[in-house]
Amino acid sequence: MELPSKLLENAVNEMSQLPGIGKRTALRLVLHLLKQPVEQTEELTTALENMRKDIQFCKKCHTISDAEVCIICSNPARDKSIICVVEDVRDVMAIENTNMFKGVYHVLGGKISPIEGVGPSQLKITSLVEKVKEGTISEIIFALSSTMEGDTTNFYIYKQIKEYQIKTSTIARGIAVGDELEYADEVTLGRSLLNRIPFETSIKQ
Ligand SMILES: [Zn+2]
Repeated sequence: MELPSKLLENAVNEMSQLPGIGKRTALRLVLHLLKQPVEQTEELTTALENMRKDIQFCKKCHTISDAEVCIICSNPARDKSIICVVEDVRDVMAIENTNMFKGVYHVLGGKISPIEGVGPSQLKITSLVEKVKEGTISEIIFALSSTMEGDTTNFYIYKQIKEYQIKTSTIARGIAVGDELEYADEVTLGRSLLNRIPFETSIKQ
């Protein structure tokens, strides 16, 4: 795409680095910003910059947080003995929206995927096993999406914690195979949490 301005071209190139944004969409967004007051662009860039620089990951559950410990982990009303294992912050948001879960989370930061080159060491698995070893956990709920990667990750973790004899469960598969957790509707997801099944049962199916 031949652009009449180097400044415009730089902005379009940067914008098109984002997933799902092609050069054409990037150009449309940039031209839109040009039509708006300069303050709008300033607010956008400041918000992005602050988010990138100041955001933290909760030192207990690894979810995105504004403080060292997130609002869920620091809430005394949450049951710290029940941990729901999820892939990322979007899953935390989806489950929180159901209002059905009063435990805490453990955010892995992805799923084991040999195809995408993601191994167990790149995920927050060790810290989860450590929590179990400390002996204060009563139940681990696996809530990864029902994909092959999700199942592989569940099973990998299960193998590491099963010797500690705690309850392990998985959210009931009312959620169709391959559906991402974040797209499941709140009622279905809430029901899946309530009707969770022992993990051992799920792997025999
Ligand atoms: Zn936390």
